[in-house]
Amino acid sequence: MAAAPQQDFDTVVMKFGGSSVADADKIKNVAQRMVAMRERGMRVVGTVSAMGKTTDGLIALANEVSATPAGREMDMLLSTGERISCALVAMAINDLGYEAVSLTGSQAGIETDAAHTKAKITNIRADRVVAALDEGKIVLVAGFQGVSPETKDVTTLGRGGSDATAVALAAALGAACEIYSDVAGVYSADPRIVPEARKQPRISYDEMLEMSASGAKVLMLRSVELARNHGVRVHARSTFSDEEGTWIGEEGMEDAIISGVTHNEKEVVFTLTGIPDRPGAAATVFDAVAKHGVNVDTILQNVVHGVAELSFSVPTEDVPAARAAIEDAQAELGEMTVEEDHDLGKVSLIGAGMRSHPGIAAKMFRTLADLDINLRMIATSPIKVSCMVKKSEVPTAVQALHAAFELEREPAEEEAVRG
Ligand code: ADP
Ligand code: ASP
Ligand code: MG
Repeated sequence: MAAAPQQDFDTVVMKFGGSSVADADKIKNVAQRMVAMRERGMRVVGTVSAMGKTTDGLIALANEVSATPAGREMDMLLSTGERISCALVAMAINDLGYEAVSLTGSQAGIETDAAHTKAKITNIRADRVVAALDEGKIVLVAGFQGVSPETKDVTTLGRGGSDATAVALAAALGAACEIYSDVAGVYSADPRIVPEARKQPRISYDEMLEMSASGAKVLMLRSVELARNHGVRVHARSTFSDEEGTWIGEEGMEDAIISGVTHNEKEVVFTLTGIPDRPGAAATVFDAVAKHGVNVDTILQNVVHGVAELSFSVPTEDVPAARAAIEDAQAELGEMTVEEDHDLGKVSLIGAGMRSHPGIAAKMFRTLADLDINLRMIATSPIKVSCMVKKSEVPTAVQALHAAFELEREPAEEEAVRG
């Protein structure tokens, strides 16, 4: 049996994702893990996602019923998934002889802004959770949801949002944070694409932010932001074993140059041509984009013969909002040609060690060139290099980069080989 998470905590938030609660047996397993933690003297708050692919199913259903479902109604619908799993886990815990109570996000005091389907947690009034813990109960909080104090409506936090629920609860309760999933931690690449990927013992907030932002869905981006902002150390680990997972905190692996290669196939690239080449044109486009709540990732601008061409990538779910934003921009800037490319994916290399090791980008581009993979867009940060390539080439690119940078090896082993 694994040790309690950390000596100095008496409360732990244990979050289990959709695949961990996909059926009745798995729900019983999760209940057992929470009870085992309770039996070691910890106060336990459980946060669970909707069962299996429930959320995908509900979204598909909404889209069958309506081409433009209202955000408020989407959140009424989607928040039910987590209520179901939460209540079921509470029942299973009761059967094991422990008292449990399930709460919706709203009942648990999770307050958010009013941005439906991508709300941000603004505050947690944890008194009800604390009172139930004081009564010796295991408290189940439905993940991925909250309530806007302004509109009094139920909100959801965006895909993968139960991770954010868990981290925010841990921050509010001064608790340890354990995020359990079908992988045993954060790996050097998605183990589904690179089976020899290596589990990282530690990873820094900055690296994890870049990894999550560029597609490593093992932790939702917003949950990592919350963890960094509130100094919550997150332990990402396996639902199905007791092995040590990955610790996300201030410190990463000092010896590692690259901590991972990530990929994202759920982005669409918009290209606007014929934009007037004058100050403020890009600002007009991105003001409109921001007003429609679109999360823009990579941006590329080119000016040829006095006319600007602007490309930017957005998550697939933001495509309708991006289209509306571009219409608004055209009203101000005049007609332009708008193209959408749905056939691109992004491959990124992330590592704090890049700061002190020049040549990483060159080696990345060479590796992809040797495979005849064409780069459509490139974006960099001090600790990341991203390339947009054809979607069908993404798995090959990820595998090739993982091999070229020898990410399956221990950093120390790498040093020894070099030395
Ligand atoms: P949950 O349903 O428990 O929230 P997710 O499906 O959101 O779990 O996240 C876990 C998945 O993330 C894994 O199954 C894995 O395929 C994927 N993944 C992508 N990149 C990585 C990575 N670098 N390390 C670990 N898992 C990753
Ligand atoms: N059920 C939600 C989703 O599928 C939230 C989560 O799993 O964290 O995105
Ligand atoms: Mg997830």
